[in-house]
Amino acid sequence: MTWQVKFRKGLWVPLADCWLDAQFSTPRAVVSHAHSDHVGRHKELICSPPTARLLRARLPGRRIEHVLPYGQTEALTAEVAITLHPAGHILGSSLIELRGAPGTLLYTGDFKLRSSLAAETCATPRADLLIMETTFGLPKYVFPADAEVIGKIVAFCREAVAEGRVPVLFCYSLGKTQEVLRALQPAGLPVMLHDSALRLTRIYEQFGYIFPPYRDFDANTVGGHVVICPPPQQKNNGLLRHIPARRTAMISGWALDSGATYRYRCDAAFPLSDHADFNDLIQFVEKVQPRQVLTLHGFAREFARTLRERGWDAWALGQENQLDLALGAPARN
Ligand SMILES: [Zn+2]
Repeated sequence: MTWQVKFRKGLWVPLADCWLDAQFSTPRAVVSHAHSDHVGRHKELICSPPTARLLRARLPGRRIEHVLPYGQTEALTAEVAITLHPAGHILGSSLIELRGAPGTLLYTGDFKLRSSLAAETCATPRADLLIMETTFGLPKYVFPADAEVIGKIVAFCREAVAEGRVPVLFCYSLGKTQEVLRALQPAGLPVMLHDSALRLTRIYEQFGYIFPPYRDFDANTVGGHVVICPPPQQKNNGLLRHIPARRTAMISGWALDSGATYRYRCDAAFPLSDHADFNDLIQFVEKVQPRQVLTLHGFAREFARTLRERGWDAWALGQENQLDLALGAPARN
């Protein structure tokens, strides 16, 4: 017996009678974390306690919540049990482990194996079938050490302030903002946050994270502060209009790509990411020791090929023909 799965804007697992990370409304779904591309308006959802709290702040409407702490196992159906483990991506992000007659299925959602200043440490439980995100699944995506990148971000901020300009760091409101805010703590630079990020930072505090002092953005007193706000492509309420003398930097794993500053229309780009890089992805597979791997997102086909070259039974999921290949392929061992 093998796990049957289907991917279409979410992962459908028939044996569990449940969607994982569906982006549309479903009767029942497990949500790995509170980023908007992993959640829909579900009638019933299962997630970690921090994810439930973050979703209440981000997703209006009522729903039935089943809050499942890390490491606690519950029955999902008569045939399948579920356990969540920390995924190291953002606060509350979870690896989803399903156990049933076909063995163990581990779905990563988004994850980061390197330690993060604003997420729990990623677990690496063993599994028979691993379904993993491969956003940065090419060998060229190996991030420098976080300490090195943070040093450069601090230097960028100090130089901008010394020039009489306001350093503006473009960070997604949930996860990246809190990581960068904590990273700035030793530098002692005063920080202003966009209001969307500020609300979410307060939730991190409720879960025990400690941040350096920060304030709501105020155009009149912004001089001498570092501003953290969402990238201009996202809604940032025209905040940049109020900061004529600024130096801007994008904080993203994609900063490794050439032309990142041009693409993000900013002065600098720094590769601090809340995703696994190529080395993390390989290491994760080696720790989980799956019999089969299915890859999702980003360079899924390329990474599956890389794994096959290293002797793993690995296939990209997300297109029907690839799914057929995956299910028809012989298992490793
Ligand atoms: Zn995410």
